Amino acid sequence: MARNPRYDLLFEPVKIGPVTARNRFYAVPHAAGMTNSMPHMRAAFRATKAEGGWGVVCSGYVSIDPSSDDAPLPYATLWDDDDVRAHALMTEAVHAHGALAGIELWHGGGSVMNRASRLPTLSPSGTSWMATHVNFMGNQRPRVMDLEDIRVLRDWQAQAARRARSAGFDIVYVYAGMGYLPYEFLLPEWNQRRDAYGGSVRNRVRIVRELLEVTHEAVGGQCAVALRISLEELRARPSEVAPSEAHEVVALLAELPDLWDLKLDSAPTDCPPSRFAAEGSHEPHVDFVKRLTSKPVVGVGRFTSPDTMVGQIRRGVLDLIGAARPSIADPYLPKKIDAGREQDIRECIGCNICISSWHDSVPVRCTQNPTIGEEWRRGWHPERIAPRGSAAAVLIVGAGPAGLECALSLGRRGYEVTLAEAAEDIGGRLRFETRLPGLAAWGRVLDWRRGQLEQLSNVSIYRGNFLSADDILELASTHVVIATGARWSRMLYSPLEIPAGRLEGPGVLTPDDIAAGARLSGPVIVYDFDNYYMGSVLAEHLARGGHQVSYVTPAGHASAWSIMSNEQPQVHRALAAAGVALHTLTRVTAFENGALTLAEQFTDAERSFECGTLVIVGTRFANDALHGELSARPVELERAGIRSVTRIGDALAPGAIVHAVYAGHRYARELDADPGALTCRRDQPLARLA
Ligand code: ADP
Ligand code: SF4
Repeated sequence: MARNPRYDLLFEPVKIGPVTARNRFYAVPHAAGMTNSMPHMRAAFRATKAEGGWGVVCSGYVSIDPSSDDAPLPYATLWDDDDVRAHALMTEAVHAHGALAGIELWHGGGSVMNRASRLPTLSPSGTSWMATHVNFMGNQRPRVMDLEDIRVLRDWQAQAARRARSAGFDIVYVYAGMGYLPYEFLLPEWNQRRDAYGGSVRNRVRIVRELLEVTHEAVGGQCAVALRISLEELRARPSEVAPSEAHEVVALLAELPDLWDLKLDSAPTDCPPSRFAAEGSHEPHVDFVKRLTSKPVVGVGRFTSPDTMVGQIRRGVLDLIGAARPSIADPYLPKKIDAGREQDIRECIGCNICISSWHDSVPVRCTQNPTIGEEWRRGWHPERIAPRGSAAAVLIVGAGPAGLECALSLGRRGYEVTLAEAAEDIGGRLRFETRLPGLAAWGRVLDWRRGQLEQLSNVSIYRGNFLSADDILELASTHVVIATGARWSRMLYSPLEIPAGRLEGPGVLTPDDIAAGARLSGPVIVYDFDNYYMGSVLAEHLARGGHQVSYVTPAGHASAWSIMSNEQPQVHRALAAAGVALHTLTRVTAFENGALTLAEQFTDAERSFECGTLVIVGTRFANDALHGELSARPVELERAGIRSVTRIGDALAPGAIVHAVYAGHRYARELDADPGALTCRRDQPLARLA
């Protein structure tokens, strides 16, 4: 198919200082959990984006000196010449596909803890960052930089820039965002210096100017120099000479960088989940920059729609369409637009599981794209999959995320696939969950697979088909995949965090009951120790439906785990806005005759609470009865010619949607695969130079 001429604009080359990007698709720097100790995984992961058509592909954050040590979070280093080779692997791989390679040089200043290097951390005035995320908390407070420290910082940046150039990078960054060191100089509350680096905006910007200058000098005109800057807080600050301090800062530096890379200040606003922010949410903060500079401007906004991208460029907001998440969910997004295949784009759902991978200090994962991070170690490609290894027919029971992904990937391999779903429509848990507040975009997990499956004539889908063990034996497929999902339980836990039996009885419900349309009598208590989205989203849903709702959790926050996916602040705001009363550090111990007994988590102090319906959002157990029944009938299986019965996804081990999609994909990749293709290669740091 041909490209829609409406999108031609996106494929125009853009000159960035001394280099030229082949198009306007720019994979911005983002942490992907791959440090220098995983150089091959990292190179293959970034190369896949270049192969998929991105004009520029950037690294994650790369520390310029051991005084900027984010351990245990996964950051890269360019501390000495030994580090160059690990990065060169990436630039070579990216160049091989015709893209430019960018590197985000970084100094964390007072926002890191230097846990591994044990050096005192640096800051303009000794003021530390107030971390609300436990991953960023620590006990070290930064020291004040003197003028010699500032000179040394410039040297570190210059040395790292020279190393970046020798590693083959085309675009070298100065990073003044997200609470890191140069950004700390920009805000007067952090920067209370009385010398030439503090006070007026011109003085506060001085360090950024100097870092840009030394970087230009270091790369000697061979690389472009980009400035990545957070503008949210500065934009909110009035200025006497401009509409805001952000305008002042941009005007002062306007022509100095070869490229402006714009972002916001805090993770939940810079990279917000779709539950709370729509595509293009940065625009009100960054829309003025292009009016103040002639240099190209890149920004992000979870852009997946080419029309939105074109709109951003035509309206003069951006020159380059930046993406982290959309390039993870679909590394081939540019190529698909170029080929007129927009309907094939695997759109990011904005769940932020990818971000949680970084917080977890592991290689990036993605709900939509199970191949991400697996390009090198498992040899998985987002667009290619080996042809089938036999003429086997496969029956998949259950069309949730696991079953759908399994059917699609097996279908693409050429297997004859039958997908049976008990419900009247496919989607599994998504059928209900996408109707909950803010989760509509998660429907893309289903919609994309539905659309792709429609293109495969070798996959037959049977809706409204509940299969029993007898039915499965009768169908006699070569392989049977059980993807029957999981169910929520009424299990409670003791103060020692061990299971304490089930709380059965009238008025005790689980999310499955709500999904099935159970009638509720108020007041309603949602008791959440699942800690992800379900508890808070259900509380919001029920409150918006007119119920009086309280949310109770033994954790310290609502949806405590969602700090990992940048959601927690907005979860609290959403509950407050919906009128949900919040009780943290509180356990449910009993529920009888309309009275709920609550215990304070640490003191065990008990109190009684009026309650009509208790919704327990706690543990889930696999729906594995079908698997158990079939496994108990080996003779009949053999007689029917069924060679394997395998559980995948929630039917094996309940998890998030990301786990189910991955499990479905992995089964499909590994069926009849060459044993050599089943290994998961272990990456190693490159050996030191002699
Ligand atoms: P996962 O996340 O692992 O894909 P889901 O719970 O989302 O799991 O989906 C499981 C699907 O399996 C549900 O749509 C459910 O209706 C379906 N299912 C469960 N048991 C059967 C069965 N015996 N026959 C057909 N479909 C089933
Ligand atoms: Fe998008 Fe979720 Fe994938 Fe991240 S994990 S890229 S937010 S779909």
